[in-house]
Amino acid sequence: MNICESDKLGHALSCYGILKANVLQKADIVILNTCSVRDQAEQKAFSFLGRAEEFKREKPNIKIVVVGCMAERIEHKIKHRFKSVNLIIGAKDIDNAAFKIADLCDISNYSIAERESDKAFDIIKYITVMRGCDNYCSYCVVPFVRGQETSFKSSDIIEDCRLAVNNGAKEIMLLGQNVNSYKYDDIKFTDLVKNIAKIDGLERIRFMTNHPKDLSNELIDMMAREPKVCSHIHLPMQSASNNILLAMNRKYTYQQYLMLIKKLRVAVPDISVTTDIIVGFPGETEEDFEQTLKAVKEIRFGGLYVFRYSSRPNTRAASMDDDVPLEDKKKRHSIILKESNKISIEIVASMVGTTQQVLAEKIEGDVIETRTRSGRKVFVKCASKKDLGKQLNVSIKEAKINSLFGEII
Ligand code: SAH
Ligand code: SF4
Repeated sequence: MNICESDKLGHALSCYGILKANVLQKADIVILNTCSVRDQAEQKAFSFLGRAEEFKREKPNIKIVVVGCMAERIEHKIKHRFKSVNLIIGAKDIDNAAFKIADLCDISNYSIAERESDKAFDIIKYITVMRGCDNYCSYCVVPFVRGQETSFKSSDIIEDCRLAVNNGAKEIMLLGQNVNSYKYDDIKFTDLVKNIAKIDGLERIRFMTNHPKDLSNELIDMMAREPKVCSHIHLPMQSASNNILLAMNRKYTYQQYLMLIKKLRVAVPDISVTTDIIVGFPGETEEDFEQTLKAVKEIRFGGLYVFRYSSRPNTRAASMDDDVPLEDKKKRHSIILKESNKISIEIVASMVGTTQQVLAEKIEGDVIETRTRSGRKVFVKCASKKDLGKQLNVSIKEAKINSLFGEII
């Protein structure tokens, strides 16, 4: 979501002639787009702001701008702690950010340069279909910083997708905190995807994130039938202990989650399921953790993100006792990570000798970076620059740790 929003802001700024600097030292404006989901992300932002202030001491005319969730949540604290920050724009106001930044920089002093968007040719385009979230998972700050769930008008989304494809996009990644609950008038998420799939020239569609409580049979069926929809789903499990899932307010049990995985694998046999896991949620016992570890071994996710729980202000879990010691959180985090890496290595090794349909996303030197329908990266020797943006059939020759290497057939 942040990559998408930074990208959008970059494009909007380019219309004012404000272009991206390759290195910090060349920048006249430093814009920090922040995330509040975990405490660690906020700490990183603080340390970056410290560096930006140092830089401003050397180059006093630069402007420092903070945007996003943290700017929404702790505007006053940022102002108080970092006196040289010039402008703070909250997540809910991100659509006006380019205008405000241009205004701050007295845009008449800038010459209108070539629009960056005219030069950019994105093979993968991220498109936001909704903002905010109403689910109030007990650990999560998103509903507080991003507000109520609002689905965007479907005809606008389809138009954005069409425009992206006309500008060279081959893959669309639809984004939202819970795309499964997208609804605009009578249009549900499956209808939206089916309509986007009709766009000529579009090769692939992905979407994230999916909440297990709202993943319908209709969506699973659509994934099976619609050839442009990739065989990958990100389905955050968070925990496999029903006690913890209840305390997290996730509104499903582990058994229900497992049932979804089974249905997905029957409908889309080559599907890769990836997930998010939180370890060390308040009250998580060794036994709760063992259940999550067992689930990771049983389900064999295609990949996962594991996070150490951190208490977030205003959330329901913030009033619970954060009683799992940091050492245990770290230990559980590394056990899950180790298990997941082991499984990933086995999965990529089993792909050697297979043929995969990949999309050529990037060319670096004489290597093309491509991705399978299930979302794995495959590096391929580049025959022609014309391959960029094309779907290619590749024979997988080698697997190294997590990466695959192939040859175009
Ligand atoms: N809407 C998405 C999640 C967005 S936040 C969803 O429901 O799947 C991304 C991930 O950050 C979550 O899935 C969760 O695993 C993690 N996360 C959120 N709040 C957290 C917290 N307080 N501590 C640790 N991890 C957290
Ligand atoms: Fe946060 Fe839950 Fe909403 Fe995801 S669904 S953004 S975890 S409240």
